[in-house]
Amino acid sequence: MTTKALVIGGGVAGPVTALALRKAGIDATVYEAYPSTADGIGGTLAIAPNGLAALEIVGARDAVVDSGLPIPKSVMSFGRREVELPRLAGMPPLRLVHRGDLYRVLYDVAVAGGVEFVHGKRLVAVEPGDGVTARFADGSTATGDVLVGADGVHSTVRGLIDASAPGPGYTGMLGFEAIVDRPVPTETGTMYFAFGRRAYYLYWRRPDGRTHFGANLPQDRPLSLAEARAVPASEWVRRLREAYGDDDPGGDLVRHLDPAGLTVTGSLHIMPSVPHWHRGRLVLVGDAVRASLAIESAVELARCLRDLPDVPSAFAAYERLRRPRVERIATRAAKVNNLKAPGPLARAMMPVLMRLMLKTAMRPEKTFGPDQRHLIDWAAPVVEADLART
Ligand SMILES: Cc1cc2nc3c(=O)[nH]c(=O)nc-3n(C[C@H](O)[C@H](O)[C@H](O)COP(=O)(O)OP(=O)(O)OC[C@H]3O[C@@H](n4cnc5c(N)ncnc54)[C@H](O)[C@@H]3O)c2cc1C
Repeated sequence: MTTKALVIGGGVAGPVTALALRKAGIDATVYEAYPSTADGIGGTLAIAPNGLAALEIVGARDAVVDSGLPIPKSVMSFGRREVELPRLAGMPPLRLVHRGDLYRVLYDVAVAGGVEFVHGKRLVAVEPGDGVTARFADGSTATGDVLVGADGVHSTVRGLIDASAPGPGYTGMLGFEAIVDRPVPTETGTMYFAFGRRAYYLYWRRPDGRTHFGANLPQDRPLSLAEARAVPASEWVRRLREAYGDDDPGGDLVRHLDPAGLTVTGSLHIMPSVPHWHRGRLVLVGDAVRASLAIESAVELARCLRDLPDVPSAFAAYERLRRPRVERIATRAAKVNNLKAPGPLARAMMPVLMRLMLKTAMRPEKTFGPDQRHLIDWAAPVVEADLART
């Protein structure tokens, strides 16, 4: 029986896994490499209705909703042409949350729910034995029945499960965000995903009238956050002006961009399919295994550990429950991502994407229904025989 879990990573998946495990009657401690909660970490995340529904199960939905901005309308723009992406009837709007705020809110809810966090613990190795022992960079150790790798796209646990596991692929883009003291002619609550002449960007009007601008700047080699931040902001602004200067409203936004307010959010990576999600007492959730759906997977992992008689059958059931959905959505995200990257292929594909988006706009339920209406029935037991039939 599983009574104690070591959760590696205090980002998004880590705190949600720990909360869900506690709800399932399993004690969980989160070990995070950074010395404190990641306040001030840049970037914005959009949480879809299915993510909010999964947060509800662990009691974190209201706090996340309160810390975010509702986005009832999304528009894709291709130069002068715009396609409004429809919202599903009866579904709540997307919530935009600053990454630092999301980490903080999940941390607060988890601590209030009795989860222990230990900061400054970077996992470097695991040792087998009676259960599993995690070894951290400072030489300390911790022992539990299972170890959950919620350690993000550059996961250490993934390599401990399978030394030949694929690593993240670099998309050829570096992310930036800034608040620009310049209005865009649109109402608050509409998010624009803009395929510019040379690069992809996004923007939305803030309640204070200013504009939130996010850029995916083409960049041939991946830079670590430290490397990217070592480049003077004025140089990045110069490059952003070069890339977006001819776009509307991108050009106006970059010309009014104050270098002091520019945040580098980091090189953009995407995970390919990972052959092994678990081995022995180790298992992966969140970006460690494949992008996105981190919140749902965290909750499902806890259900499996709650209901199945031993660790191997719980991990196998978890993978069977999650892999098809995660792979399907991640594969589609990777395709769209390819179109954001610069280059002749992306440019040639743009009319195809536009037609696809128009079709999507006409059949929202077919395209987004299965993604966004997905609900986890926490009370329902996970039954191995049912999964084997799927
Ligand atoms: C620019 C950008 C925009 C995005 N936009 C969206 C969006 O709009 N919607 C969406 O759903 N997703 C979005 N994503 C993806 C989203 O950020 C991830 O899916 C989510 O953060 C995954 O959570 P996670 O907990 O798996 O990883 P993370 O949030 O990266 O957390 C991993 C944690 O593990 C810690 N860690 C790493 N290694 C170790 C170690 N060895 N020992 C201990 N701790 C360790 C890290 O410090 C970190 O705190 C975006 C990602 C990026 C980069």
